[in-house]
Amino acid sequence: MLLSSSRLLSFISLPALITSLQYSAIEKGAYEADSILRRDAVIIGGGSSGTYAAIGLRDKGKTVAVIEQKNLLGGHTNTYTDPATKTPVDYGVIVFDNSSIVTSYFNRFNIPLTTGTGRATGSFTESYIDFSTGKNITSYVPPDPTAAFNAYATQLQKYPSLNKPGWNVPDPVPADLLLPFGDFVKKYKLDGAVPTIYFFAQGFGDILSIPTLYFVKYFSLSFLQGVETGFLITSRHDNSELYEKARTELGDDVLLNSTVLSTDRSGTDVKVSVQTPAGKKLVIAKKLVISIPPLLSNLNGFDLTDNERSLFSQFTSGALYTGLLNHTGIPDNVEITAVKPNTPYNLPQLPTLYGLYLTAVPGLKQFLYGNSAPLSDNDVRSSIVSQIQKLKTAGTIPTASTPEFVAYSNHYPYELRVSADAIAKGFYKNLTALQGQTKTYWTGAAFDRHDSGSVWAFTEGLLGGIAA
Ligand SMILES: Cc1cc2nc3c(=O)[nH]c(=O)nc-3n(C[C@H](O)[C@H](O)[C@H](O)COP(=O)(O)OP(=O)(O)OC[C@H]3O[C@@H](n4cnc5c(N)ncnc54)[C@H](O)[C@@H]3O)c2cc1C
Repeated sequence: MLLSSSRLLSFISLPALITSLQYSAIEKGAYEADSILRRDAVIIGGGSSGTYAAIGLRDKGKTVAVIEQKNLLGGHTNTYTDPATKTPVDYGVIVFDNSSIVTSYFNRFNIPLTTGTGRATGSFTESYIDFSTGKNITSYVPPDPTAAFNAYATQLQKYPSLNKPGWNVPDPVPADLLLPFGDFVKKYKLDGAVPTIYFFAQGFGDILSIPTLYFVKYFSLSFLQGVETGFLITSRHDNSELYEKARTELGDDVLLNSTVLSTDRSGTDVKVSVQTPAGKKLVIAKKLVISIPPLLSNLNGFDLTDNERSLFSQFTSGALYTGLLNHTGIPDNVEITAVKPNTPYNLPQLPTLYGLYLTAVPGLKQFLYGNSAPLSDNDVRSSIVSQIQKLKTAGTIPTASTPEFVAYSNHYPYELRVSADAIAKGFYKNLTALQGQTKTYWTGAAFDRHDSGSVWAFTEGLLGGIAA
């Protein structure tokens, strides 16, 4: 259907009209006195960065309110406790950088840390399965990544600013950072590192086509060091303890199961109208901290500026799903990694199970499943079941059984990114310049990278401005 330019204009201006009506509707008088909260800062999102911001601002003597859509804090952190043995199993965030910000944050909550990889230890068999056929690819031997990692580290050393928190992208953007990662791998002979990078980049989508910038940022020098020498893990293997303790400390300042209806940043203060289980509330604050993934679809009701809208409209996202399965029919001492023969680097085609990993509970396997775009939970669950059942059909496992989902978590959106063209045109310079405009501070993985320690360091760097 073709639209005349005048009709097109009326289509464009309608949402703006609705928006302006909606924002002018935040009137203090429309709320009962006991539904109005006054705080120094209102934080949208109670995941990794939002919780860190809330605790950090409290520690600076500031008052906060946290608006979180789920019924708990922690974002991508998931912990299941086996009812029979009371053994906790982390199946979202597992490892942390060995950095001072990580140790002092966990120390603050009296949570002991130890070193580890977060992967199974002891005696087990690693099988490489083609989930499209259910066959065990016994001929597949993963490459030794040592030489490729050394070559990769040489490349990373060219971009020290990208190893720091935030998007300090060199200007002009070096051509190598705009290459599809597959071309960068070929150019610098990094082939032997691809399976390991693929393992850690689960949920990114088709890694070979993504601009190299995202790997230099995420699979950074400090991350590489963690891969080679080990990360920190919680000694009790219960990462949710951090968020439970933060929740207890923040008390009524956390509004769970709550969503933003609208925001108004036009006055001296920021006004946020919130739908909570106890009815509508109005939070009036000096500063707004937005820690949720900034996709336009996740910012309904926010009074975005044209600049913010234009930047966020460019984001696309991968999709990652995690959980725990019983009754897979796979022996307890077998861990599975997905491969696909006759593809570049034997990488499986998306959507796929990335692997089935051992946990501390016998019989219980952790799964990771991903795609380059979101899928329905029903589609993900049925695809996982059918991929595992192919193992029996192919004779790879002896017993037929129907896997049972003991836990399931949808981590979409994950790893927000923009095109190489947008990066070259200064996207990250413009994104970074948003900080502090219209009393608003932005944090979270989209403003840094998907790494808890790095996100906390980035957030820490914003606290002075928020508290000022
Ligand atoms: C499966 C998985 C495993 C990972 N493992 C590790 C690991 O082992 N180590 C590591 O360092 N990093 C890991 N990461 C990376 C991790 O995502 C980041 O370190 C960190 O969670 C990013 O923090 P964030 O605050 O941006 O996002 P999140 O922690 O996801 O927080 C965002 C919060 O905002 C809430 N929210 C979203 N939209 C709205 C809305 N509209 N209104 C209100 N609330 C909203 C969400 O519910 C969530 O609680 C992992 C990520 C995933 C997905």
